This record gives sequence, structure tokens and C-alpha cells, in this order.
Amino acid sequence: MEPKDLGFDSKLIHAGTIDDKFGSATVPIYQTSTFKFKNADHGAACFSGDSDGYIYTRINNPTIDALERQMASLENGYRAVATSSGMGAVNTIYMGLLKQGDHMISTAAVYGPSRVVMEKHYSKFGIESTYLDTTNAENIRKAIRPNTRMIFIETPSNPTMDITDLKEVVKIARENNLITVADNTFCSPYLQRPLESGFDIVFHSITKFLNGHADVVGGVLVTREKELHDILRPMMVNLGCNMDPHQAYLVIRGLKTLSLRLEKSQESALKIAQFLESHPKIDWVRYPGLKSHPQFELAANQMSGSGAMISFEVKGGLKAGKVLMDNVKLCILAVSLGGVETLIQHPASMTHSKMAKNDRENAGITDGLVRFSVGIENVEDLLSDLKQALNKI
Ligand SMILES: *Cc1c(COP(=O)(O)O)cnc(C)c1O
Repeated sequence: MEPKDLGFDSKLIHAGTIDDKFGSATVPIYQTSTFKFKNADHGAACFSGDSDGYIYTRINNPTIDALERQMASLENGYRAVATSSGMGAVNTIYMGLLKQGDHMISTAAVYGPSRVVMEKHYSKFGIESTYLDTTNAENIRKAIRPNTRMIFIETPSNPTMDITDLKEVVKIARENNLITVADNTFCSPYLQRPLESGFDIVFHSITKFLNGHADVVGGVLVTREKELHDILRPMMVNLGCNMDPHQAYLVIRGLKTLSLRLEKSQESALKIAQFLESHPKIDWVRYPGLKSHPQFELAANQMSGSGAMISFEVKGGLKAGKVLMDNVKLCILAVSLGGVETLIQHPASMTHSKMAKNDRENAGITDGLVRFSVGIENVEDLLSDLKQALNKI
């Protein structure tokens, strides 16, 4: 059977395998920097593209290839490009597709560094950007300028859990001939596949749900069409933000349980979100699976589950939030997300602290906001940990 005919869970197991000489059941790690050519003509053919032989690991490598084939299959795209980190994918996209004088529109509460690198560094090369609330498609439409080239969204956004309507964005982009990019890190292709809604590019921090075990930093981007792949692949190679074979091997291993991990985590996440919502010391909870989420319906339409990320505001702002974080015993106080272990963090003083306070507040990242990534522990243990820590406030 071809991978494209397989169900999602079967793809997780079989879409990334390779035929090696010894019939290895798993993908071997080709831990080599370079590859031997059969002869001079073969070497030349590898470089000209007449042979698909391997050359050098920054350019291509069988282990990394296996992961890329699997990711393209999971996102239902043309091909994937694996990168050293999620930010490697972001920079490959910015560098590959924007030029001096171009303008980009993006989600205000996008992953902090995706915004910081654009506003601080790409601005030096004459690239303009507008960050706005993309949950309202009209905002995007109004911000389009003659030089706008790209719409770069993140949904659910980080850490406000706002949902952007994928199909609406595609509609606006097609009317205006713009490239659409979605950061799909919070959902993984198990819960949401933006290319199927017509997006041109989807990317991930593989570090999070895809690898899932908090032991790898990596990224990947997948394009819907050949044309953009043919621009982005050489850009990644020339930027030098390639993945490493061992990193790729670990991700392939982690991916096998993506569905199982996410099912367990999101089942617990809903129970935790409901618990927090009814707790007297909590101001509000943002979780796409709660009826109180302003975009509950949209989330249910475009995501096949509510995910494992929760944001909430503790009454008493920053101070109370700190007490909570200093008193959890099972949940780990750490940035990152999407692993088997439950993590808790405070965006205003941690992940989003490099953002100007004003921009942060405009993006809805209040001082008391706590971000919670639900792992696969027993939910009863997570609930009692939260209970005892909230009691300390
Ligand atoms: C972590 C993260 C990134 C950046 O990925 P790295 O692997 O840390 O470089 C981008 N977007 C989102 C939503 C993230 O959570």
C-alpha cells in the first residue's frame, strides 16, 4: 500500500520507513557527514539532479529524508524540509520568500521569536510587517498593502489560544495573490492540517508534540506545491539550518505515538480546564474544548480535537501566578510544550518577556496568564498537584 492510501495512525508507523540493504525494521541512523560517489560521473549526476544519490548531510541524508517523507505524508503536502529548530523553519520561510520592500501580515500573539526576528532583524533589510488580531478576517483584509506578500498565522495562537479561521485566510490570500503560512505547532497534523484548507506552507517546531519527549530541538516545513518547495529547500541548505540524522531518528521514534499521546493529553486537558474554570482562585480559562471559548464552534470545525494546551489567569496577577509556579510539585516549571511531561510557565516573564509590554498587552498576554501543557500522567495526580498549589495562594 502507498502511504497516501493509509490512515493517519498507520502513516505514523509506516510512512517514514526506508529500504536498507539489511531490511532494518526501523529507520537506521546514517550518522555521516558525506557520501561516497560510485565514480566521477555519478558524483556529477548527484549534483546536477540526474541522480537522486546522496551528497552531503547538509544537503540530504537518508534518515532525514525518511522523516521528511513522513511529514509530507502526515500533512498531505508535496514535500517537507526538516530544519535544526522551529526557528530554522521560520527563518527559511522569511529569507526564502520575502525581499526588500515586501510586507507581511501576522498574528499579534504569534510565537515570540517569530515576531521578534521579523521586527528587529528583517526590518533592517527593508521588510515591513503588521501584527494584528487575525481572529477577525476583516482586520487582515484592511491591513493589505500593495506590497503585501505573505500572511503568516498561528492557530491556536501562543499563548492566548485564539483561533484563526484557516479557510477565511486562504480566501483573502487568493483574492490578493498572497502566500499563506501556518504555524501548526500547537495542533500537529493529528488535529489540524492547514494545507488541506488551501494553505501554501505549514511548519512546526518538531521540538513540541511531534517529537513529544522533550529531548530534541527541531523543525520542519511542508509545502502544498512543488514551486515553493524548490525555493525553500535550497534556502535551508544555504542557510545551514539542516537537521542532524540522530535528531531525525529520535523524531521518527517519537512520532510513532503521536496519536496515542495526544488522545491521552487532550482527554486530561479537558478535565483540567473544567476544574480550573470552576476554581474560585481562577479568573478565566482559555481552552478550545470549553464552551466558554469565544471560538468554540470554529475550533470544533477546523480542529479534530481540542489539543493539550491551556491558558488561564490566576486571580491576583503576577504575584499569585508566581506562588502557583513555585508550589507545583509534579508539573515541571519550564518553557516548551507538547511533551509527555506536564509543563507550566509564565509567558509575561518567560517566553514573551522580550516583547514590548504594550505589544504583549495588545496581543492579550496579561501579566497573570499561565500557560499549561498537559502531558500523559494520571489526570488525578495533575489535578491534586494543581489543587494543593492553588491552595497556597
Ligand atoms: C517552540 C515554538 C516555535 C519555535 O521552535 P523551536 O524549535 O524552539 O525553534 C515556533 N512556534 C511555536 C508555536 C512554538 O511553540
